[in-house]
Amino acid sequence: MREINSEQIKEKVKELFLKANYYIGEDVLNSIRKALNVEKSETGRYVLRMILKNYELSANEKLAICQDTGLAVLFIKLGQEVHIKGNWKEAINEGVKEAYIDGYLRKSAVTDPVFDRKNTKTNCPAIIYTDIVPGDRIELLVNPKGFGSENMSALAMMKPADGAEGIVDFIVETVRKAGPNPCPPTIIGVCVGGTADQACVLAKKAAMRKIGEHNPDPRYAKMEKDALERINKLGIGPAGLGGSTTSLWVSIDYVPTHIAGMPVAVNICCHADRHAHGVLYGNKKDKYSIN
Ligand code: SF4
Repeated sequence: MREINSEQIKEKVKELFLKANYYIGEDVLNSIRKALNVEKSETGRYVLRMILKNYELSANEKLAICQDTGLAVLFIKLGQEVHIKGNWKEAINEGVKEAYIDGYLRKSAVTDPVFDRKNTKTNCPAIIYTDIVPGDRIELLVNPKGFGSENMSALAMMKPADGAEGIVDFIVETVRKAGPNPCPPTIIGVCVGGTADQACVLAKKAAMRKIGEHNPDPRYAKMEKDALERINKLGIGPAGLGGSTTSLWVSIDYVPTHIAGMPVAVNICCHADRHAHGVLYGNKKDKYSIN
């Protein structure tokens, strides 16, 4: 049994949210650089250059990549041989609060979503998904999620007979309807299967798969390629100003589902594709990486 102090969790959460908000992943950077070579629209190329400049400024000046610094979402793998000393939920929220206050990141969380809509001024509460897994470490994947893109999410409870073609149609239609709203070029995360709620959570996680990594199942990989090709023919382009770079990548994951259904969730992530991954081993070693 390894002991991990809640203070260490707080510090790690704070560090990861700051890094996610200041630094973009290499895969996104490279993908935008590549798009610059193929984008035919002059305005589109201008927007891509501005996006690259923005990433550079954010990293050098330690400034938020975007003014919408997102709701704080965390995916946590908690080793079953870890004993946490202290209150871990409080520690996570404290880490989020400190990151957003000390890092001058916009606080975007409101209390009651319909009537009061009062800013909590801490960007809390964080949205936490926890998996208990074998092992003696804690893995954290943090995702500050902006709402220009989150608002464009979609769920379809499809019929099994709709098949792969129906799913790809739904993905492309979701991106078409979103138009310029999710700040293209976007990254599209999809999950097929499970229940409605499970599909939505896993679609968000799929959007964080590294650009360039296809689903290992060639049938799903083909759907990813087909969807991306069709999306980039929609003409939406960078910032929605026209062009062939509407999305950088489509990641489709799947989970088992019920015989009578085929839920399909689409989560759209903007070019401010922020996430950071870290591992806590307690006092012995502690690792961090951006993707
Ligand atoms: S969708 Fe993304 S890039 Fe657009 S405003 Fe929101 S966080 Fe920023």
